[in-house]
Amino acid sequence: MHSDDVARLEPGHQREISEGLHARFAEQFGRRADGVWFAPGRANLNGEHVDFHGGHCLPMALAHGTYVAAAPREDGLLRLRTLDPGLDDGIQTVSIAAIDALVRADAGEGSAGEAPPITDVHSIVPGVTSGWTHYVAGTLWALQQLGGELPELAVRQGFGADLLISSTLPIGGGLSSSAALECSAMLAFVALATPLGEQNPGPALGAALDDALRARLAAACMRAEVEVVGAGTGGLDQTVSLRGRADHLVSLDCRNFSVEHRPTSRLLGEHTFLAIDTQQAHWLGDGQFDDRRADSEAAMRLLGADQLRDVLPESPHPGDVDAGLARFDTLTGGAEAIEGRRTSACRRRLRHALTEMLRSEQLDRILGDEKLEPSAGAQQVGHILDAGHASMRDDAQVSFPAADAIVESARAAGALGARLIGGGFGGSVLVLVPRSREDDVVQAVHRMCVEQGFTAPRFLHVAPSAAARPVG
Ligand code: ADP
Repeated sequence: MHSDDVARLEPGHQREISEGLHARFAEQFGRRADGVWFAPGRANLNGEHVDFHGGHCLPMALAHGTYVAAAPREDGLLRLRTLDPGLDDGIQTVSIAAIDALVRADAGEGSAGEAPPITDVHSIVPGVTSGWTHYVAGTLWALQQLGGELPELAVRQGFGADLLISSTLPIGGGLSSSAALECSAMLAFVALATPLGEQNPGPALGAALDDALRARLAAACMRAEVEVVGAGTGGLDQTVSLRGRADHLVSLDCRNFSVEHRPTSRLLGEHTFLAIDTQQAHWLGDGQFDDRRADSEAAMRLLGADQLRDVLPESPHPGDVDAGLARFDTLTGGAEAIEGRRTSACRRRLRHALTEMLRSEQLDRILGDEKLEPSAGAQQVGHILDAGHASMRDDAQVSFPAADAIVESARAAGALGARLIGGGFGGSVLVLVPRSREDDVVQAVHRMCVEQGFTAPRFLHVAPSAAARPVG
């Protein structure tokens, strides 16, 4: 097999993408875009299904991400088009007032019947995932709410916008194309609709967004996804997209969303990360993700904790996980079910959450240890990735045959470690590999997928990259 047969997704050259998008925007909307904003996707080394439990995660922002070209309107309408071939359904028009009325009706502050008509073919129903436009419209809605607290982010009356969207990420590939869409749209809206954007036009907006503001915007994007789209996100993806840094992992404490940055250049001198998109698009809206979360929350309540992070001490060790599980066993007293959910399933979810949190602490220590020889550090990171995959497969039970086979195949071809990332039930596998073995891994995984009858995967070269910003 020739290496050209292998599908590789390149991040692309930002200037070319941005110029191309300006040209398409002019064709599409018959006017010039005021700018282009970019937000990255993410890959998470560790910390899946724990952000909503106050856990600790170690993700990176990617060079792959979503670009939004935009220009303001004054009629309160969003006109949106995506260039993604699988989702493009022409220009979609959404009335902002309709979204607000419907979200308030959903919260019991009126009835949906009072909402102004939506000029879109999609019906905007908060709490129900249907239609990609909700991510964008929800983001503007959430910014409007935030502007009520922060005058510099107040969205001006009657604001609307034309947006053209293009992404270099696989959509539904577990690399957070949804957060990249929200965060790029958020920056466009801040730039075009608020006093902060007016005072810091163009690239100056990037500098004007300090870490505290980025944290507020990430929380607003998360609100859009939870309250308008109706997905159970815990905020990890939006935080990395808005607060990542080139050549650094984000050490994120989800108890308070505090962020520290851990340099990766020593670790990655001789090694590199690959994301392998299984091309099995996941669907978190069908209840499986929420089901896992409900199991772990039942365990949390049994343990009397407000969040599962509280079950472990500040610097946890393996014995602390065992102690947490032993307490769970004592409290269940051998009952088959707790809160109507299978005890054995709840115990597995608990073990995933606690070991995943422990692994994040261990990784953080490895990355912060300047005396550790880089290849020894990479070996240790590889072991933690492997342990993370076993936990996703056996305890969280969110893996699937293609992901398991890709992990095995990558390991056999020379990877130091590999794991499923994202919510699961589809998505991508993250692999740590010596640069000298990268091609071997790509070829071996591709061949295995073809032979075993799995969809041929796509390969993304991933490196920790910069956060969301204006790009043109
Ligand atoms: P991912 O892991 O990629 O975030 P999700 O299922 O969480 O997968 O989100 C994918 C959804 O986000 C898509 O189905 C679509 O609704 C929306 N989306 C993401 N990127 C785009 C895009 N470029 N254009 C339009 N919609 C997008």
